[in-house]
Amino acid sequence: MTASHDDTGGARTDGAAGDAPGDGNGPARLHFIEQIIEEDLRTNRWEGRVHTRFPPEPNGYLHIGHAKSICLNFGLARKYGGRCNVRFDDTNPSKEEVEYVESIMDDVRWLGFDWDSRLYYASDYFERLYAFAERLIGKGKAYVCDLSAERMREYRGTLVEPGRDSPNRDRSVDENLDLFRRMRAGEFADGTRTLRAKIDMAAANLNLRDPVLYRILRARHHRTGDAWCIYPTYDWAHGQSDSIEGITHSICTLEFENHRPLYDWCLNELAIYHPRQIEFARLNLTYTVMSKRKLLELVRDGHVTGWDDPRMPTIRGLRRRGFTPESIRRFCERIGVAKFNSTIDVAVLENAVREHLNETAPRVMGVLDPLRVVIENYPEDRVEWLDAINNPEDPSAGGRKVPFARVLHIERDDFREDPPRKFFRLAPGAEVRLRYAYFLKCVSAVKDGEGRVVELRCVYDPRTLGNAPPDGRKVKGTIHWVSAEHGLDAEVRLYEHLFRNADPDDTGPGESYLDGLNPDSLRVLRGCRVEPSLAEARVGDRFQFERQGYFCLDDDSKPGSLVFNRTVPLRDTWAKIEKKGD
Ligand code: ATP
Ligand code: MG
Repeated sequence: MTASHDDTGGARTDGAAGDAPGDGNGPARLHFIEQIIEEDLRTNRWEGRVHTRFPPEPNGYLHIGHAKSICLNFGLARKYGGRCNVRFDDTNPSKEEVEYVESIMDDVRWLGFDWDSRLYYASDYFERLYAFAERLIGKGKAYVCDLSAERMREYRGTLVEPGRDSPNRDRSVDENLDLFRRMRAGEFADGTRTLRAKIDMAAANLNLRDPVLYRILRARHHRTGDAWCIYPTYDWAHGQSDSIEGITHSICTLEFENHRPLYDWCLNELAIYHPRQIEFARLNLTYTVMSKRKLLELVRDGHVTGWDDPRMPTIRGLRRRGFTPESIRRFCERIGVAKFNSTIDVAVLENAVREHLNETAPRVMGVLDPLRVVIENYPEDRVEWLDAINNPEDPSAGGRKVPFARVLHIERDDFREDPPRKFFRLAPGAEVRLRYAYFLKCVSAVKDGEGRVVELRCVYDPRTLGNAPPDGRKVKGTIHWVSAEHGLDAEVRLYEHLFRNADPDDTGPGESYLDGLNPDSLRVLRGCRVEPSLAEARVGDRFQFERQGYFCLDDDSKPGSLVFNRTVPLRDTWAKIEKKGD
């Protein structure tokens, strides 16, 4: 192992990826988990195996934070020739649903990962987990406790005061076994008894103060039905499930660092195969909430249209917004893996998709706020099908034909009656190039009764298709356009951050994160005009609308009324196009 490790790697917010692994810029540095794995491989700690798992709780849809965990766990397995399981952590039947299970599987696959035949459920292990619990009782290391949840809290102590022993702590092994079996048999009401590990009520780590391993809960489980009325806690289910599956590196987020001594205690007391738990910093993004409770609230209370609302940080939302799996994987790789929590600028995520779509998305012309242009010297009945390039970044993408005619639509914003200095677009008397077409000069603007410009009268120079005019005249601006007769009608949805503050939880006194919702997070434009080639587009197809950004065809589209989501705007495009147009 030669690489050095930088704990702050994940804190980078600039999106620069010069030394990110896998982007072809020389040898990549190893992050701290890779270092651990390489060291374990060197010392043959797991007989050469690398076996990770992704353990979602099916109580919501996956979000971009989960994507980081998925990319990490599956990525390590891939990199080291190992395996990665998917295991549903379905130990809390009151909050879990089949809908979530299915969406999670679909999202993991969409991200480009495959668990082959290794799809598991913690509920598959309920019988074995129960047997492990009896084993612990048999060793005198667990007991049935009659304290209510509230009393248990009182007995627990605080960070500065030790806890007190439960009055039931010294029950005999036989009595404990009998009571535990009767708990399972359904003899006691919900919440009246628990099974607790017998560790140390004075432990500095509160997780070791006789934590609960089983609770009584009469709730129908989406897989085991009514077979059980006691359910294991996360702490009891997780490590033992890892052990059953032969996991080598059990990777979780930093909140579980304080649970690791308990994870180790259980496995040591049971004397079974013992994976290694490693904690990393969870992903936080600016302008984004990532808590499943809050995401559920946004959906349930109608602040967004659903889990797949394009403003949501869910994988579903990002998919619908037009993100590609590659861009999300690239983002996860780029932000790295760190041991300290930090917040990544959401612009890093947006840059990742912009970069990928720049390489892959076909270019088209679409006018978001149309202004009618009549070319007075162009024949009424003439239509020319002009050559347009599909993707200058990808010659293999080829070209297409776009219809040019006497009446066009251009962007209202590309005309100023009274242009500021250095405005290189249209104005009375000014000349521009129409993308893939001719020079166009504005003669006059036609206004309605309220003084609003409703049409431009223009002339074109027929000698300028693909070249400069013989007189060597130059123009500085190139603008996009769509033929009025051939263009298709479209609705375009523009998105901004869902929250106004970079930290949505940083609210005023007495306010909640909901008070920080951005009222302008969705702007709907109707009556947009797009070039006719888009009649062939299918839901989910992504495009660059020249000069406007990247757009994705939404499933609200119907034949004849297209709906596009803007994935991200283009950045700096204006300057670039200005230079290209001559
Ligand atoms: P909760 O447990 O509160 O329902 P969770 O976000 O922990 O929410 P899980 O379904 O338990 O949700 O998470 C599955 C896996 O994804 C866990 O290993 C968890 O550590 C990881 N994960 C969740 N959120 C993030 C995040 N923001 N960054 C990185 N990994 C995350
Ligand atoms: Mg969790």
